[in-house]
Amino acid sequence: MMQTYRDLGALRERIGTWKQEGRRIGFVPTMGNLHAGHYALVELARQHCDAVIASIFVNPTQFGPNEDYARYPRTEQRDAEGLADAGTAALFLPSLDVMYPFGAMGCVQMHVPGITDILCGAHRPGHFNGVATVVARLFNMVQPDCAVFGRKDYQQLQVIRYMSEELSFPIEIIPAPTLREASGLAMSSRNQYLSDEERATATAIYRTLESMRAACIAGTPTAKIEQDAEAELQSLGFTVDYAEIRSAMLAPASRAMDKRRVALIAAFLGRTRLIDNLEFEIP
Ligand code: AMP
Repeated sequence: MMQTYRDLGALRERIGTWKQEGRRIGFVPTMGNLHAGHYALVELARQHCDAVIASIFVNPTQFGPNEDYARYPRTEQRDAEGLADAGTAALFLPSLDVMYPFGAMGCVQMHVPGITDILCGAHRPGHFNGVATVVARLFNMVQPDCAVFGRKDYQQLQVIRYMSEELSFPIEIIPAPTLREASGLAMSSRNQYLSDEERATATAIYRTLESMRAACIAGTPTAKIEQDAEAELQSLGFTVDYAEIRSAMLAPASRAMDKRRVALIAAFLGRTRLIDNLEFEIP
């Protein structure tokens, strides 16, 4: 039976008991409006741990002033049922007051330097400060042994890995593969903002990532690959934030120390911002 906690004290008591019993605790933080991709994170956490805690918190500090914080879909009841079915042991639903007891404005903040200046960080100023801030808080509240994050949010995963390692959090960060629709479209809570027509157009993101991978493996210069990808997406009606090839560590591809690469796209369809990426190796 999954238990739901809104209060930190009660959650910590439960976690304390589990730890005394020698159970390994897994953690899956989310913003809710859950889909199969999120439930797959719970499944993966269960493979690594004895008790999985999921959280749902729509974090205001990671949204920009003109972003979708107010209209972000909130479906708590349905999410709780899905998490219980996926084998989640405890659901943490912190209120704003629990997460930011002195208020979100002026709260203690995290800043991960360097990696947050590029890609989504360049287009969403302050976004990764908000992400790092809330994840550090959640890590401290839950104190799990491991935490699962999706590769769908590739840059976020790198930011969290860096922060966790640099701050010596004793938490194993486990990356999970991206779950896609049959069309190739990466599952995302934001897909539900899309009209039927936009949803069909959105499948071009994954196709473009595949073309970028093929061109990169064939030795096409990175600048040309990126220009072609951007032009292709624009011709289909996207407003492109970026279409880039980077090293696995997100350095410019030309400075990569190894053969691992990642193609990354962020683009708007109407008001909906979609991101996706594809990891690969060059010969
Ligand atoms: P969110 O609720 O969108 O903040 O996402 C919570 C977690 O789910 C993050 O670790 C995401 O990377 C992960 N996630 C979101 N979409 C997917 C997907 N399609 N496949 C795998 N993981 C995902």
